[in-house]
Amino acid sequence: MDRGGAAMEEEEPEPGPLPGEGKLGGGDRGKGKSKGHREGAPLDLDPLSPCGYFLAGHCKYGEACSLSHDLEYARALRAQWLSPGDKAARRELKTRAGSAGLPFEPRILAKEVVPSKGGTGSLFEESECPFRFLAVLDLEGQPQFGGITEFPVLLLETQAMREVARFQRWVRLATVEAAVTTPLACGFLEVLSELRAFLLEHGLDLDSPGRDFAFVTCGDWDLRSALPGEMELMGPAAAVLPLAFRSWINIKEAWNAHFGSRIRGMRGALAQLRLLDAQGRPRQGCHHLGMHDVDNIGRIVLHLLQVGADLDVTAKLP
Ligand SMILES: [Zn+2]
Repeated sequence: MDRGGAAMEEEEPEPGPLPGEGKLGGGDRGKGKSKGHREGAPLDLDPLSPCGYFLAGHCKYGEACSLSHDLEYARALRAQWLSPGDKAARRELKTRAGSAGLPFEPRILAKEVVPSKGGTGSLFEESECPFRFLAVLDLEGQPQFGGITEFPVLLLETQAMREVARFQRWVRLATVEAAVTTPLACGFLEVLSELRAFLLEHGLDLDSPGRDFAFVTCGDWDLRSALPGEMELMGPAAAVLPLAFRSWINIKEAWNAHFGSRIRGMRGALAQLRLLDAQGRPRQGCHHLGMHDVDNIGRIVLHLLQVGADLDVTAKLP
């Protein structure tokens, strides 16, 4: 989705107030909306989403936060997202939502990402993507407000048009004090080395992506601003930014180029795929929870592959 930033992109008009939005919305919690021209505009926080800043080490709202600070709920959400077909994980998540005092809604249960049946465009059997794999990435948090808080990746195989693997880590805020414990989050450099190992399991090399894989994001913020910004926060401990992060496919540009449309956010594409509910929320998952967002972006990617859209690099770092 859009985060403003360098490109000053703007997400499509909000469909209206969402549950839980308002009193504590905006601020430094999300992306984009709090920087640039939409300063102070409420971010449509989903009340069923765990608080990423809390998990990362510091939530400035403390007990007044409108998002859940329940560690066990966050742990169960992650476990279920990593294994969407696992029945025990689903049951556990349902139980944990209850003990966290949250209403249970089926949309929090992650599902395997498969090609859509609806939407526009005629279907092709072969994709027009030069990469064997696409790694959908959606970072949460903001380097200028302490750091990235969540790092999820959904790995898709382009010719088979299917998901192959899932990766998610909560990221400890770069600026958090050493005494603060973060049971679910680890440091950014550790996350990066775990991501490297995850990709290597699939024969993919962050330093030499070639035509093996490319990252896909919704907007240019993640790889143009957030990741380089986080590397800067790491100081001398950070090595050079791996090559695979230096170019990417912005799914909105690919969508607009193929359909001749002008969607400005993830929801524009989800609306056309009939993946929004009556309130304008994604039918699946919590918007602005990174792992749920990569699922929805993944659904858009698979649709673009299905309709034979050109899915090649749209942006590069200088
Ligand atoms: Zn919070």
